[in-house]
Amino acid sequence: MDNDNFRKELHRAADWVADYFERIESYPVKSQVAPGSIFSQLNELDCRKKSSMDEIFSDFEKIIIPGITHWQSPNFFAYFPANSSYPSVIAELLTSALAAQCMVWETSPAAAELEEYMMNMLRDLIGLPPNFHGVIQDTASTATLVSLLVAREKYSSFQINADGFDNQKFRIYCSSEAHSSIEKAVKIAGFGSNNLVKIPVDDRFAMISELLREAIESDLDAGFVPLAVVSAFGTTGSTAIDPIIEISKIAKEYSLFHHVDAALAGTALILPELRYLAEGIEYADSLVFNPHKWMFTNFDCSAYFIKDKDALTRTFSILPEYLKTKQDSLVNNYRDWGIQLGRRFRALKLWFVVREYGVEGIQAKIREHLELTKFFADKLLALNIFEIMAPYPFNTVCFRLNPKIDSNELDILNEQLLTKLNSTGKLFLSHTKLNGQYVLRFVVGQTHTELKHVLAAIELIHQISDQLLEDSIF
Ligand SMILES: *Cc1c(COP(=O)(O)O)cnc(C)c1O
Repeated sequence: MDNDNFRKELHRAADWVADYFERIESYPVKSQVAPGSIFSQLNELDCRKKSSMDEIFSDFEKIIIPGITHWQSPNFFAYFPANSSYPSVIAELLTSALAAQCMVWETSPAAAELEEYMMNMLRDLIGLPPNFHGVIQDTASTATLVSLLVAREKYSSFQINADGFDNQKFRIYCSSEAHSSIEKAVKIAGFGSNNLVKIPVDDRFAMISELLREAIESDLDAGFVPLAVVSAFGTTGSTAIDPIIEISKIAKEYSLFHHVDAALAGTALILPELRYLAEGIEYADSLVFNPHKWMFTNFDCSAYFIKDKDALTRTFSILPEYLKTKQDSLVNNYRDWGIQLGRRFRALKLWFVVREYGVEGIQAKIREHLELTKFFADKLLALNIFEIMAPYPFNTVCFRLNPKIDSNELDILNEQLLTKLNSTGKLFLSHTKLNGQYVLRFVVGQTHTELKHVLAAIELIHQISDQLLEDSIF
């Protein structure tokens, strides 16, 4: 391909992308292909042979697209969103053209300085004080691992990095509703998953802080070293909010490192009227939230903030001769702020998003999503055959169909409801279990979801539920 052809193909791709967003609602939201079907079609092609862009594009549409679940469809209500937006997609294109390795300041000063600027802005926007320092990590999972490693090194005066473990038996705490990434981080950091203590939750699915204190006390009696606590601001199951201020107090009392996992709900703190939900957040040692979930910025982009920047960089710095630069003392070399050496230029898409929407535009969208969530819950309750299974402080409603039958059968009924809903292709919801009960989750977070999409979803849920109740033996 030469540059002239490249330009032509770029225009074709640009048209394809704009067309895609225009017709996105005509695809089944959840891919309906059978396992192995994409693989076997690929096997039938001779993919090793040089092909024309016409052929590649046509196979892309024919083979790949049917196997795509359309996360950017306004009828996507599953999991948590991984939303994007027009300015973000454009910035990703530019980033991919620059294809810069942003490991140190010198390898692209603009990337380092825009990242510092954007992280300061996000920190201020979510109401964190200026003694937090921000860096973009690839995911919340990585950010949580980074925090646990910093906690480990701070505690051991950086000795575990040098000599390995010395028989300390560390304990890490989180709630029983916390995200699986915490357990993964505990394993990777070398603590052992049996040393992750899961504290029970109350009827709102939030950590019971008194039980945290009890667990710490009994661990101390047993000779363990309580090291860190991870609190959740918005659990993945039901967006429950742990009592951050109480946990901060306990963390201070026992010298625990306190990391806040706000992966989805951190974005809501951009609304001043919701800050009260995160009371005490300024006492935490670190926090992560994902603009790549609910802030219109393409995956990957996790905003990670930590107070003790020196402990962070001391935990991760390495300085081989070939990476030394004259500016090392003057600039942020983000290579030392996390796990990988190589880094993408991720700040650019954030900058495009914030500037194109304006902060007020982003706030308006988040407020709209919150209103649509309440609207959904109210309408659903009014139908009298559904119950809401958890508080919904943000954009996620956990509910189930309940025609007042025995609870074992209710799980089966709701599983059937979910399968039937998703097989229509008209929307996509997912499920979880709360208190051992099967519940459906309805999450409003896709960039282009509007009232009409939520209304259509309610109608479909109602219609399929009625059908199920008529057809079933219940
Ligand atoms: C989604 C989520 C994560 C994981 O996020 P990644 O960026 O995919 O690692 C962690 N914690 C919570 C509460 C989440 O909702």
